[in-house]
Amino acid sequence: MATAVVGGNWGDEGKGKLTDMMAGDSDIVIRFQGGSNAGHTIVNRYGKFVLHILPSGVFHKDTVNIIGPGVALNLDGFFSEIDSLVARGVPKPRLMISERAQIVMPYHVIFDKLEEERLGPQSFGSTKSGIAPFYSDKYLKIGFQVSDLFDDDLYSRIKDVAGVKALYAESVYGRSDFLDTDTLYGYLKGFADRLLPYTADTTSYLYNAVKEGKRILLEGQLGALRDPDNGIYPFVTSSSPLAGYAAVGAVLPPHAIDRVVTVIKSYSSCVGAGAFVSEIFGSEASELRDRGGDGGEYGATTGRPRRMGWFDAVASRYGCILQGTTEVALTVLDVLGYLDKIPVCTAYDIDGEITEQFPVTRLLKRAKPVYEYLEGWKCDIRSVRSYADLPERAKDYVEFIESKLGFPIKMISNGPKRDDIIFR
Ligand code: GDP
Repeated sequence: MATAVVGGNWGDEGKGKLTDMMAGDSDIVIRFQGGSNAGHTIVNRYGKFVLHILPSGVFHKDTVNIIGPGVALNLDGFFSEIDSLVARGVPKPRLMISERAQIVMPYHVIFDKLEEERLGPQSFGSTKSGIAPFYSDKYLKIGFQVSDLFDDDLYSRIKDVAGVKALYAESVYGRSDFLDTDTLYGYLKGFADRLLPYTADTTSYLYNAVKEGKRILLEGQLGALRDPDNGIYPFVTSSSPLAGYAAVGAVLPPHAIDRVVTVIKSYSSCVGAGAFVSEIFGSEASELRDRGGDGGEYGATTGRPRRMGWFDAVASRYGCILQGTTEVALTVLDVLGYLDKIPVCTAYDIDGEITEQFPVTRLLKRAKPVYEYLEGWKCDIRSVRSYADLPERAKDYVEFIESKLGFPIKMISNGPKRDDIIFR
């Protein structure tokens, strides 16, 4: 019924490619958390796209794409992404936004920037898309739902919220010029007409869709290790990227999510701060970064060089457990074809104790990687389409990772394109 495609690492695992590929067999694709702070890169017959807020099913003309109530909706981003798709020849997508989704306000973005500046070297490496201030306000109960745009008391609510925020902004950052009620009201009202046709009771729609047996795809953003409850706190995102949260952020019965595809990278990459045990540096890192992904491992939202590392079996197994994985999709295997030997981090050494269990942040900071080395296959595997045709050493690598994860690898992605995929 419902399949979740979610990240098992720190994000950027290649979920966009998998979702785009699987969207062709789905009636509905749903974003259930996060906002435009991450980017999904998709390469298909229309070209190369980076989606930040639109669900990855927008390239399939019959697929209904939904932005669920758990999403941080950036209105500028939403409309500019639709416009840029249409300008590049993609048919206008079918899209619905939950009337309960909340809106990222212009001040959320500014607060995010100001706070990262204030933190200086201690900053979180935020994409400065306003996500943490947005979710803080949501739980402070001073957020704005899409339906509020059509409420008579919108102006007075903005006035109250902006007033209180101005006190805080003045005392912490010494400015509050970005909290003018009229400007904020004008910003929201300016979108009302364009937003109305997309606004819907997606909860009822999905309730019926589940009853009718529609094929639903849930699209996760970022990865398990960024989960605020179970990840590398405080270097986490502000909404849960776990498949379990999709039941809330999209509104589906938990038991309707019967397939969880956890996307795992064949090596590691990470954007932002926080302990990253198998991290590599110098020329070893820059070579992997430049060969990685589709034209290099640089942030899809920020363009920042991603931190690079070898495959971390401890973190990835933990990520799979958090996701409630039923199967793994292993991506970017093609990238490793240049290596004579491939290091795999199979355990952590924490003050002399060797462990395969992923620790809490206090201990993670002290963890050192324990590596095993696998033989490289030293060739280009991008054109391979069946598992049997992979070089033996590439199969050894896949099977070694599978044994360490303890979850079945059912798909192997060996290139950025939709059909660069091997089913197992
Ligand atoms: P997402 O946020 O999880 O969708 O990941 P990103 O889009 O940020 O990063 C994945 C990058 O790797 C993108 O540039 C993809 O086009 C690319 N990619 C995805 N799968 C593969 C693969 O199997 N091989 C290669 N070489 N690149 C891939």
